[in-house]
Amino acid sequence: MNKKAIKDIDIKDKRVFIRVDFNVPIKDGKIEDDTRIRGAMPTIEYAIQQGSKVILASHLGRPLEDKKKAEENKMPFDESKYSLKPVYEYLRAMPQLQDISSRGDEPVFTNEQGTALGKAEVKNDKVFFANDCVGANVKERVNQLKAGEVLLLENLRLHAEEEANDDEFAKQLAELCEVYVNDAFGAAHRAHASTAGITKFVDTAVAGLLMEKELNFLSKALNNPERPFVAILGGAKVSDKIPVIESLIERKVDKLLIGGAMAYTFFKANGYTVGKSLVEEALMPKALEIEKMAKDKSVELILPTDHQVVDSYDPLNSRKTIPIEFTNKGLVGLDIGVETIEIFKRALEGAKTILWNGPVGMFEEKPFDEGTIAIAQAVAEATEKGATSIVGGGDSVAAINQAGLEDKISHISTGGGATLEFLSGDALPGVEALDEK
Ligand code: ADP
Ligand code: MG
Repeated sequence: MNKKAIKDIDIKDKRVFIRVDFNVPIKDGKIEDDTRIRGAMPTIEYAIQQGSKVILASHLGRPLEDKKKAEENKMPFDESKYSLKPVYEYLRAMPQLQDISSRGDEPVFTNEQGTALGKAEVKNDKVFFANDCVGANVKERVNQLKAGEVLLLENLRLHAEEEANDDEFAKQLAELCEVYVNDAFGAAHRAHASTAGITKFVDTAVAGLLMEKELNFLSKALNNPERPFVAILGGAKVSDKIPVIESLIERKVDKLLIGGAMAYTFFKANGYTVGKSLVEEALMPKALEIEKMAKDKSVELILPTDHQVVDSYDPLNSRKTIPIEFTNKGLVGLDIGVETIEIFKRALEGAKTILWNGPVGMFEEKPFDEGTIAIAQAVAEATEKGATSIVGGGDSVAAINQAGLEDKISHISTGGGATLEFLSGDALPGVEALDEK
């Protein structure tokens, strides 16, 4: 990576502003999935260990857009749903963020009377919360921070200036700190005040540990992969993935496996009947162009040979596996078939780099998760045999978790949109803005 990272600089006793991605699902004040928070912990813990005064900032949802929509539809709007307060409660309760020295030998989750406490009730004098992200009060609070303390700022997107990448707002954020760290890979494809603008007003802007890890894995796969390099692409729409497909062919992946609904646009473009399977008619010429491009670059493009279908008029009782060419007009394809699973598995044998984005079937609906789970297992097996595997995309990562294989993949990318843009070969504004090595 040609960008400076947090370990390249001295952060002792410094006010360190860490842009994290705490955009987590919250329901009734409870965090439903803490993956993103856990992803940011190595950087936060490192900064604490180094004796920094840690300022954490994140966005959460789209409060201003949602408010506008609610007003237009004359619906009630609850702004409290966009507060990062639940994340603060969560951080306070994390054992690794509690001040162990002040706790003595007391068991962590027991009070003086010996009764067990809820996690949030545990004493924590290390983690604090600010009701805003800019302004005089926040500035004063930041100036009181001691080494090893953490202050979480309120949702950046409660200010329209954040997404507008407003200079004045970015400057206010910058004034809070001496060092800026971007660890929010998932927001790096956006040029916002906290991801891009702020870097104009700080002396030092570096990548956090999660950001660094993402960039190392993804840029290695893109620019210098160990071969054979096999990519698996799936998902619902070709249109979402065209830049990624083109970038991978341009970089001469050895094999490109295409599954999921996306494959049907290719089949139909080649004159097959695909029944009621998802097709993007307008992209049929593009699909043929991609096939030609693959041929010119000697990339082996592998499409399914069979699929699981249901009769669109009797979806519950009509599941069967048939060759693609036997598809008649009432059928809809929802997963790859057993033969395709074998072909994809064989294509993965001996791979040294594997990149996977997009489920190969409608995995949210059992039993149409069979193909996706089988591919997840094959990717895990190939990883065990020495391949570097990278899985990206919200649904693909969900599928890996559903299969319980998250520990068997070399790198699970946290990026979603940012991952796809990076793989398309686009520069990410949040990365570009960081200091060069
Ligand atoms: P990711 O979030 O990993 O980038 P996508 O969002 O591109 O993946 O695609 C995931 C979606 O594709 C899932 O909702 C899945 O149900 C859908 N999908 C995959 N195959 C099919 C299919 N054959 N028919 C309908 N939907 C499909
Ligand atoms: Mg998705």
